[in-house]
Amino acid sequence: MGKSKRQVLEEAEEKNVKFIRLQFTDILGIVKNVSIPIDQLKKALDEGIWFDGSSIEGFVRIQESDMRLNPDPNTFAVLPWRNNGEDEPMTARLICDVERPNGDPFKGDPRYVLKKAERKAKKMGYKFYSGPEPEFFVFEKENGSASLKTHDAGGYFDLAPKDLAQDLRRDIILTLENMGFEIEASHHEVAEGQHEIDFKYAQGLKTADNIATFRMVVRAIAEMNNLHGTFMPKPIAGINGSGMHTHISLFKNGENAFYDKTDEYSLSETAYHFLAGLIEHAPAITAITNPIVNSYKRLIPGYEAPIYMAWSDVNRSALIRIPGVEKSEGKRLEYRSPDPSCNPYLALSVLLQAGLDGIEKQLTPPDPVKENIYELTEQKMEEYGIQTLPENLKQAVTALENDEVILNALGEHVAQKFIEAKKHEWDQYKAHVSKWETKEYLEKY
Ligand code: GLN
Ligand code: MG
Ligand code: MG
Ligand code: MG
Repeated sequence: MGKSKRQVLEEAEEKNVKFIRLQFTDILGIVKNVSIPIDQLKKALDEGIWFDGSSIEGFVRIQESDMRLNPDPNTFAVLPWRNNGEDEPMTARLICDVERPNGDPFKGDPRYVLKKAERKAKKMGYKFYSGPEPEFFVFEKENGSASLKTHDAGGYFDLAPKDLAQDLRRDIILTLENMGFEIEASHHEVAEGQHEIDFKYAQGLKTADNIATFRMVVRAIAEMNNLHGTFMPKPIAGINGSGMHTHISLFKNGENAFYDKTDEYSLSETAYHFLAGLIEHAPAITAITNPIVNSYKRLIPGYEAPIYMAWSDVNRSALIRIPGVEKSEGKRLEYRSPDPSCNPYLALSVLLQAGLDGIEKQLTPPDPVKENIYELTEQKMEEYGIQTLPENLKQAVTALENDEVILNALGEHVAQKFIEAKKHEWDQYKAHVSKWETKEYLEKY
C-alpha cells in the first residue's frame, strides 16, 4: 500500500529529517534535484514546488519554463549516507512528477512516459513487472578524479582476499536495504572491478525509480570510500562491459500471463506475441536502451553481450533468453541488451509498448536458436533469418526515427528532444580522432 502525505510528514519528523531533496530525471536519465528545508515539506506535498524547467536537458524553452514538481509520497526515503552521527540532521528524498502550471502532466517527464505505457497495459488488462540486473565498475581515484585503475582484481563470483570490493558491496547493499530495497543477489562480475547487485522485481514505475536510486547509491557510497562507481557501459576495451539485463513479465487477474505449462518453453500465447513485439521493435528500442556512443563498444561478440536479434531458452548470446523457471510466478522474458547508462523510465516504456504492440498485432516470433550464435556462420544466420542489432548510435537513432510504435511510446516531445540530443552526440563523436587511429595510421601513411 502507498504512503499518505501524513505518514511522510510523521516519518520525516520521527527520523529527524531537516532537508528534502525533490528529485526527477531529465530525458537523458540524469537525476536532478531541488533541496527544500523541512518546514517547506507540507507545502511541497500539498501544492508542489515551482522550478525553472528551461535549464534541464530536453525540457522546455525559456518562454514556457515554469514547471511544478509534485512529490510522490510513495517514494519518500531517508538518504542514510547523509547521516554523520546520532543527532545529526538527516536528508530525505522524494521522487516527483513534473507538471505544467495548469496541473497537466508535463509530456517531457520520463516518469509520465512510463505511466502512460502502464496505463495502456492496464487498459489491456495487464500489470507490468520488471526486474533489472545492473552491472557497474568501481575505479580508484587519482588526484580527486576517476582513474581507470580497477579497485580490485577479482573475477566472477570470486571471494576474498582478491575481492577487495566486498566491503564496498556490503556497504552499498546495507544502504539500499535501509532505503527499502529487497536485494536478491550480489556478486563480483566477470571483469576486474566489476560488480552486479540484483534487487527484487516490482511494477514498472517502482522498478524505474529503484534503478535511478540504485545508481545514486552506488556512486555515493563509492565516493565516500574515495572510489568512483560508474555505469558507463564499456569503460575498458578488451574485457566485459556492464549490462543491465531486464526481466519482464505481465500479470492478468493476479496470474502470470506469460505462463502456460503445456508449452515446450512454458510460454503462453501472450508471451510469444510480446516476445515477437520485442524482436520487431528491437532496432528502435536499442536507441533508448543503449543510448550513448560507448554503449555500442559493449555490443560486440565475445563479451557476453547480445548482438543478434534472436531468442533462446538457454543461449546467452541471444537478445532474449527465457530463464528456466518452471513455476508460474517466475515465468518471464530476459531482455539482455540494455546497459545501465539508459534512462530507466524510457527503457521500460519502450520495452513494454513494443511487447503490447506484439500482443495487439498478434505477431509471431521467429523460431528459437539453440546454437551459440557467436559461432554461427553467415550462411546459417541468413538461413535462420537472424539480424544484428544496430552497430552504433547513428544506426539506432535512424531505426528509432523509422519506428512509429516506439516514437509514439516516447511521445512527440521526448522523441524529438531525444533524437536531437543524440544526433548532436553522434556528430561530436564523428568529428573526434581517437588514439586508436593515430596509433594505427600516423606512421603508416
Ligand atoms: N557483462 C555482460 C553484459 O555486458 C553480462 C555478463 C553476465 O551477467 N552474464 O551483458
Ligand atoms: Mg546476473
Ligand atoms: Mg551479470
Ligand atoms: Mg542475466
